[in-house]
Amino acid sequence: MFDSLSDKLDKAFHVLKGHGQITEVNVAETLKEVRRALVDADVNFKTAKEFTNIVKEKALGQNVLKSLKPNQLMVKIVKDELTEMMGGDAEGIDLSGNPSVILMSGLQGSGKTTFSGKLANFLKTKKTKKPLLVACDVYRPAAIDQLHVVGEQIGVEVFSNKEEKNPVAIAEAAIAHAKQNGHNVVILDTAGRLAVDEVMMNEISDIYKAVQPQETLFVVDAMTGQDAVNTAKAFNNVLDFDGVILTKLDGDTRGGAAISIKSVVNKPIKFIGTGEKMDAIDVFYPSRMADRILGMGDVVSLVERAQEQYDEEEARKIQKKIAKDKFGFDDFLKQIQQVKKMGSMKDLMGMIPGAGKMMKNMDIDDDAFKHIEAMIHSMTPLERKNPTSINASRKKRISKGSGTTVQEVNQLLKQFTQMSKMMKMMQGGGGKKMMQMMKN
Ligand code: GDP
Repeated sequence: MFDSLSDKLDKAFHVLKGHGQITEVNVAETLKEVRRALVDADVNFKTAKEFTNIVKEKALGQNVLKSLKPNQLMVKIVKDELTEMMGGDAEGIDLSGNPSVILMSGLQGSGKTTFSGKLANFLKTKKTKKPLLVACDVYRPAAIDQLHVVGEQIGVEVFSNKEEKNPVAIAEAAIAHAKQNGHNVVILDTAGRLAVDEVMMNEISDIYKAVQPQETLFVVDAMTGQDAVNTAKAFNNVLDFDGVILTKLDGDTRGGAAISIKSVVNKPIKFIGTGEKMDAIDVFYPSRMADRILGMGDVVSLVERAQEQYDEEEARKIQKKIAKDKFGFDDFLKQIQQVKKMGSMKDLMGMIPGAGKMMKNMDIDDDAFKHIEAMIHSMTPLERKNPTSINASRKKRISKGSGTTVQEVNQLLKQFTQMSKMMKMMQGGGGKKMMQMMKN
């Protein structure tokens, strides 16, 4: 995500390499590089300066432990301070109301409507809530239609009224509708404008006063860097909102907005948007973000995502099949589909510590599975069940049917045999041992 910043910080820490201890001189030199890296990443200059001053104080005040090298200590201090600057702990949202009203605001194109849908989907699936999406944009009929499309996609009801021109009336009617129909969360998607101007603020303030939302969230586009920070600040000057939603982090290569918002606006980032799809939403964890910025990957997120997709029952079934030598291509296909559900390969690789840098110049093909899937789809049910039956003429047919070469089919068969053998070996304690090895 933030490759360039990670690289530059890494170089800054290198200044300390080989030094036996932290001194005024080498700290100053390192932190000059850190500050430059932050400013290049579009972090506000004042914030960058304050940041390095705190780090300097902490670094000089610490005795370097024998077991810790000065550059390692510096990474640790920078990581802790980055985490602190981005808000420390993750901030949840208040869902205590019945219904809880969440007021969404943001500039046009910031990703407000998309995020409203993502949040509804998130609350529905993770917190077993029954959300209602509400279209309060009275200016653009297309915006109302867009919300309906989103609602249909995720199976969440959308409340709208194209005849009504007063957003306060729509919001109030929606809340009444929610109460009658057992919706315990109401998400109000409001009209966005090109800038935080008086009209926008008046409208939002009116809705705010009328419905007294549990949460007022301001959506900003991470790709706009300092502009995102300034817009949030302008909004905050008029309405004391609860949190920021940082969208399009998947397209943000610099990270300035994520780093500066909390310290400039003094409002926490609550969620991030990481793609156009409805499941591309994550709770914002400052410490995980700091890990990503430092290029240490994000193992915790990776493990969580894997756990979410892990189907215990399916795993047990597969284990049984392996034990009986009945693991076939149908099972293999299912496993591929599970891995794919976890996200794009590049995203997943980026979360592994150290891999981020390695992968930077590699072209990871998300379609890598496509060929494999095509080959499996070209097999008959019998061939899938019993791969050893695939002889030369069958291989030819499979390669033709899947638009691949016989060589590729051969390779797949070879890999499949190897994998089946390995899985069998891993059963009965071997797997645990292997996991242990990976942890160490
Ligand atoms: P609104 O005008 O604020 O309601 O913005 P929209 O929700 O219509 O989003 C504007 C554009 O940004 C759309 O094309 C969305 O698909 C896209 N978008 C929204 N969130 C994200 C995100 O997290 N990542 C990416 N890559 N695109 C996003």
